[in-house]
Amino acid sequence: MTGCMNMSLKIKINENYGTLKKNYLFSEIAKRVKLYTEAHPEADIVRLGIGDVTRPLSPVVVKALKDASEEMGNAATFRGYAPEYGYDFLREAIAGYYKKFPVEITADEVFVSDGAKSDVGNIVDILGDNEILIPDPVYPVYVDSNLMSGRRVSFLNGNIDNGFSPLPDGIAEKPYIIYICSPNNPTGAVYTRDGLKKWVDFANKTGSLIIFDAAYEAFITGDYPHSIYEIEGARTCAVEICSFSKTAGFTGTRCAWTVFPKELEAGETKLADLWSRRQATKFNGVSYVVQRAAEAALTEEGQRECKESIAYYMENARIIADVLESKNIRFTGGKCSPYLWLECPNGMKSWDFFDYLLEKEQVVGTPGAGFGNAGEGYFRLTSFGSREATVEAAARLKRLL
Ligand code: PLP
Repeated sequence: MTGCMNMSLKIKINENYGTLKKNYLFSEIAKRVKLYTEAHPEADIVRLGIGDVTRPLSPVVVKALKDASEEMGNAATFRGYAPEYGYDFLREAIAGYYKKFPVEITADEVFVSDGAKSDVGNIVDILGDNEILIPDPVYPVYVDSNLMSGRRVSFLNGNIDNGFSPLPDGIAEKPYIIYICSPNNPTGAVYTRDGLKKWVDFANKTGSLIIFDAAYEAFITGDYPHSIYEIEGARTCAVEICSFSKTAGFTGTRCAWTVFPKELEAGETKLADLWSRRQATKFNGVSYVVQRAAEAALTEEGQRECKESIAYYMENARIIADVLESKNIRFTGGKCSPYLWLECPNGMKSWDFFDYLLEKEQVVGTPGAGFGNAGEGYFRLTSFGSREATVEAAARLKRLL
């Protein structure tokens, strides 16, 4: 008889989820591409929309995965639960990686996780009801994870005039949680040392916390900071999140880290202690096999191999950038980032340009409006595709623009 009973639950749900914008960006893209291919089954579509890597894991990483798997299959070397904060060998390797910037981080300040997305989303757990400053446009997880826990979010407007790198000038001096993504997804904009110093000084003056997302730091060329700790004063105001996803092709392998400097304190409480407590309670570590693979990516050989993949993507970026430059289209990114962020031609809106590009040249990108209100009128292309697809897309863009 259960079929005719009202089975609705009587529990309260998290009403904050109702404040989220419908996450339609990638499903809407998929829907429009599907409709187009149904109407034009012969169409040869080139996709420069995804933010996922396409190059395989490097040989030294694959070898580490195999060797570690062998260890797991042997009673003498088998391992169970991994430490919640990461194996010492990886925490030390990550601390060592910072030396080249040069930045002094100790292994116990590094907390290994299964992804920068997890850390970005979970850090809200250890923070109270603060005012939040988030750049617009940006990686949408910052906004959504705050809205999910009922936080008030204000936006830092990025635009072509500030190079999509907004500064604290004119912002009321009080404590905030400030998100900074450099190089930025989706704009590819990267903060200068002076720009970051302004944020660090502002944060120290106001008692604010900066959450610095460095997921794309390995794509930087030229004299830009890779780590916020290159900036004097950052250890008292910033945590840094970084990932193996884009730098070592780990999007499907999953490994990342967050740095909590010892100096980072709110009153008497060290933020590192809160994060340790949170992770020990809600997280059971990253698999041994994956941590060995991540360690391998940080060896000299691993770094050389990762750099080859990054150089491949950046050559793709140059191919697209050349077309945009030759057509006088204004854009950011493509030099320190796998993303190119262009102004839609003739004042077109993001989704109109998406349809136009798909209809006329069968190229798929990502409408900027999906990354925040300030993204309207812009469009993201990525250099994560194959060379062949990139060259083809560039030829089509050249024809159309
Ligand atoms: N941070 C930024 C800015 C990103 O663009 C992404 C992924 O696209 C992530 C974090 C997520 O990284 P992970 O794969 O380590 O979860």
